[in-house]
Amino acid sequence: MRIVLLGPPGVGKGTLADHLKEKYHLAHISTGDMLREETKKDSPLGREIKGLMEKGALVSDELVTRLVVQKIEHGLDLKRGFMFDGFPRTVKQAQDLDAALERVHAPLDCVLTLEADFNVLLDRMTGRRVCRKCGALYHVTYKPTAREGICDVCGGEIYQRADDNEKTIKARMEVYNKSTAPIIDYYAQQNKLKKLNANVEAAEVRLAVAAVLK
Ligand code: ADP
Ligand code: ZN
Repeated sequence: MRIVLLGPPGVGKGTLADHLKEKYHLAHISTGDMLREETKKDSPLGREIKGLMEKGALVSDELVTRLVVQKIEHGLDLKRGFMFDGFPRTVKQAQDLDAALERVHAPLDCVLTLEADFNVLLDRMTGRRVCRKCGALYHVTYKPTAREGICDVCGGEIYQRADDNEKTIKARMEVYNKSTAPIIDYYAQQNKLKKLNANVEAAEVRLAVAAVLK
């Protein structure tokens, strides 16, 4: 199974990805995670990426696509399925992804589009917390850690992403509507699109996804 998880920031792509990883043993390619990894390096490129992410702006298509293509060609077991999360984010990225997957004879099977209301997205993002060590996702209200500030999975430190503040969230939403939403039509034309209501609890989203992937 080769899929793309599409939808606005905060809709629950990462949470769903964690579940699909376990259930279907899919590889998880998150460009957000890959870029955050780059920002840990104290290099000019790392600092540039960090600046863009903190503003809620997109990193250049060229850079992100290069990272992804590298992964497809060298870091991915194509016999196993995979899912992209946070990529593609522009029509150009979608076209370049299709071309790269065609070269390795592994085209996408389907694109899951998660949809939720703005107030739901805002609430999910402002309450989101992440483990610095293992990346586990939490929410102050819906999925708190057992011990405050400490990851249930690995004991690592819990933090709030620098871009999960109200100002940056608004910027990210605008970028989504303008640059990313057009991808929905792109995949609809390929008959690969599956739309899902993500206003509901994670468990309910999972059930709907299982029905679609069957
Ligand atoms: P979310 O889906 O919650 O916005 P991500 O972790 O996917 O979070 O992305 C965080 C930030 O990383 C984005 O706002 C953007 O700056 C950058 N980014 C991630 N993926 C891409 C991409 N495919 N193209 C350009 N920028 C990206
Ligand atoms: Zn952890």
